[in-house]
Amino acid sequence: MEELHSETPKAEPEPLSTPKIIGLTGGIGSGKSTVAKFIEEFGFPVYYSDDRAKTIVNDDEDLKIRIKALLGEKAYSTDGIYDRKFVAQKVFNNKDLLQQLNEIIHPAVRIDFENWVKKQTKYLIFKETALLFELKLNRQCYKSLLVTAEDNIRAKRVMDRDGKTYREVEAVMEKQMPEKDKIKLADYIIYNNTNLEDLKEQTEKIIFDIE
Ligand code: ATP
Repeated sequence: MEELHSETPKAEPEPLSTPKIIGLTGGIGSGKSTVAKFIEEFGFPVYYSDDRAKTIVNDDEDLKIRIKALLGEKAYSTDGIYDRKFVAQKVFNNKDLLQQLNEIIHPAVRIDFENWVKKQTKYLIFKETALLFELKLNRQCYKSLLVTAEDNIRAKRVMDRDGKTYREVEAVMEKQMPEKDKIKLADYIIYNNTNLEDLKEQTEKIIFDIE
């Protein structure tokens, strides 16, 4: 009788094939979020690392405790919301503190991303992250796609978008990996120096060319 019950338990069905992950990146104001939206319009899913990180720091209680221990109670408002401005000011010129904060946040985002990947059914999926090359996350991707534009164009777009001064944008740019280094590392490059129509056309051409 035992035989009747000896069937091996059914495993979770394996996806037919694992999707190809394309790392989508670019410096401040390069247009990577705009490209990500176009990619979604073309029917491919995008994981927004920065947006997910913002959600995770508010939702994950363990993370909250560790961030408060590192940066103080003021890292969260009295109603428990992560204070990005306070945190940014605290870590902007403190490499060591920034690294410790990243060591708390990045593994949580990685796990969240892995769970997201498991749910995807498309053959091509995208991970938008500003730090693709800095964190060597491109190694975990099938290909990398860089959005780049001249510094003065990026600065102007961010000034218009966020009301920042040129100096404020420049200060962020100075801390990011230089565009010329990213260009060397990228598999695909979109030069976003003209208009949105051109940006969308370049995006379409590249994503449907990825093999
Ligand atoms: P950040 O890293 O700062 O979040 P990002 O790389 O995601 O920036 P976007 O937010 O996509 O950049 O673009 C920056 C701003 O420039 C946005 O307001 C966007 O609408 C605008 N923009 C992007 N590309 C173009 C373009 N080709 N023509 C006109 N405006 C553009």
